[in-house]
Amino acid sequence: MMRILVVEDEARLARLISRVLHEEGYAAETASDGRSAMKLSLAEPFDLLVVDWMLPDLDGIEVVKRLRAAEVDVPVLMLTARTQIEDRVEGLDAGANDYLPKPFAFPELLARIRVLSRWQTEKRKTDETLAAGDVTLDPSRHAVWRDGERVELSAREFALLAALIRRPGQVFSRSVLLDTVWGSSRELYDNVVDLYISYLRKKLDRKGETSRIRTVRGVGYTFDPR
Ligand code: CA
Repeated sequence: MMRILVVEDEARLARLISRVLHEEGYAAETASDGRSAMKLSLAEPFDLLVVDWMLPDLDGIEVVKRLRAAEVDVPVLMLTARTQIEDRVEGLDAGANDYLPKPFAFPELLARIRVLSRWQTEKRKTDETLAAGDVTLDPSRHAVWRDGERVELSAREFALLAALIRRPGQVFSRSVLLDTVWGSSRELYDNVVDLYISYLRKKLDRKGETSRIRTVRGVGYTFDPR
């Protein structure tokens, strides 16, 4: 069951939100100030936080900033009575994922929560460590190891290798790799893919062995996990 922490100092609104969440099948807990919100969310992982901006002691922005500084990447939906655009930007800059102006309708609150939880599920998937043969990639840390040895890759090289390793054995055409790694920018020529493949091979392969990134003539490239 998805666990949501509602941080709201208006007791009636906090109760109302958590009741609606319970009815929707979520487990909801409440905190009435910034400090207890911090304590709770650092002590036990929540799947999502609904945080009011104006709170006693630490305000909502400060809570989000401190959580992000502590590398807690739980999705945060900010509630705010402030509607000025700068305030929204400040909230998002602090690390909130979305905001909802007060007063709001509950169906909208629930819809935003669904979007954020889907996003979180997708994010977890792409953050999972990838391994093929003796090559391991950790997307969340942007790190690559070969045989337990760290390999330093540029951001593009990393994205290219990640694309190949997500589906070992699948043959990727140059244009698919261009779309995936460079976006669909058409000013680029296919040989940029060839160039980066050659960089990757230099960094990943050992002298005298056949590359694990195989060229499939006339088609493209594939990662061979062996
Ligand atoms: Ca408040």
